[in-house]
Amino acid sequence: MAWDDKPFLRSYMSEPRGPGLSVDRSSFDACLRDAARKEGVRIETGVARDVEVHPRHVRVHSGGEDRLEIRASYVVDATGRRATIARKLGAQRTQRIPLIAWIAEFETADLGALVVEASPDGWFYTMGTDGGASVGWVTEPGRVHPRSAERELRAALVNAPLTRECVGDASIVGMTKKMAGSGLLDRVIGDRWIAVGDAAAYTDPIWGQGVSRALEVAERASEYLRAPAKARKRLQPLYASAIAEHWLEVERGRDEFYARGLNRFDTGFWRYYDQQARANPLQASVHER
Ligand SMILES: Cc1cc2nc3c(=O)[nH]c(=O)nc-3n(C[C@H](O)[C@H](O)[C@H](O)COP(=O)(O)OP(=O)(O)OC[C@H]3O[C@@H](n4cnc5c(N)ncnc54)[C@H](O)[C@@H]3O)c2cc1C
Repeated sequence: MAWDDKPFLRSYMSEPRGPGLSVDRSSFDACLRDAARKEGVRIETGVARDVEVHPRHVRVHSGGEDRLEIRASYVVDATGRRATIARKLGAQRTQRIPLIAWIAEFETADLGALVVEASPDGWFYTMGTDGGASVGWVTEPGRVHPRSAERELRAALVNAPLTRECVGDASIVGMTKKMAGSGLLDRVIGDRWIAVGDAAAYTDPIWGQGVSRALEVAERASEYLRAPAKARKRLQPLYASAIAEHWLEVERGRDEFYARGLNRFDTGFWRYYDQQARANPLQASVHER
């Protein structure tokens, strides 16, 4: 990791907030589906577009051509940052500090390590993939035009020597853009629904802990769903405050970490973050909603 003046090594397993993980998402999802099938789960695929909550059940509709309709006692919203189900049910999402990650797939040898590096123009992560290395460039929205993204990323790499060393002059074979800010829902649980993972709260990719956190939250949600009906009303505010408190703690750590970036580089990106953080103070983000 190169965040301050001197690069240092960190073990992903001994992070104070829990392990940071880099997973091959499609294999991981396939493992989850296999495990669910073994437990007797029936798997249907479709895009959830609408939901209705009735006193004793909930219905989820796909609409469109697949016309799938699922009726169940509860629905778990695991739709990621979109939080489609929770938002259909009236929950609102607050994004605190908008950031964008430009992700470039380089045709190069695997690195065997994850490299994180702060630069004047944002920060970079580089990780090995099946066929090469994936470099994420986290920067402010609106800075880069999609048509010139590759050229601008290469230009920004000039000031990120460790990342540049990982990819050299290798070709870029694909480039995508992702939302990389942090945010959470004002309501994460209701009588017949519960939001988990990024649908409930999402954080900056700097800690690489979105997947392990999503698993922790899913475990907590499954305890809630297995609890006797009478206990659930009491458990709802506990679940909601656990989500908000964890998110606040991660955000506090992130503000401190980014402040170190501003100390090192007094440039547009780090000033943008600082201004946004001051304009969206943490307590207000959670408690005044
Ligand atoms: C740039 C970047 C880098 C990151 N790097 C890391 C990292 O190294 N390690 C880490 O642990 N985390 C990382 N994260 C965070 C991590 O990606 C998320 O925290 C994690 O994927 C959350 O899992 P999830 O299942 O809740 O949501 P998602 O992974 O977003 O999955 C949601 C799923 O729901 C599906 N879906 C969406 N809408 C619907 C709908 N209406 N109907 C049906 N299905 C739907 C989507 O197709 C998707 O399959 C990173 C995030 C970003 C932005």
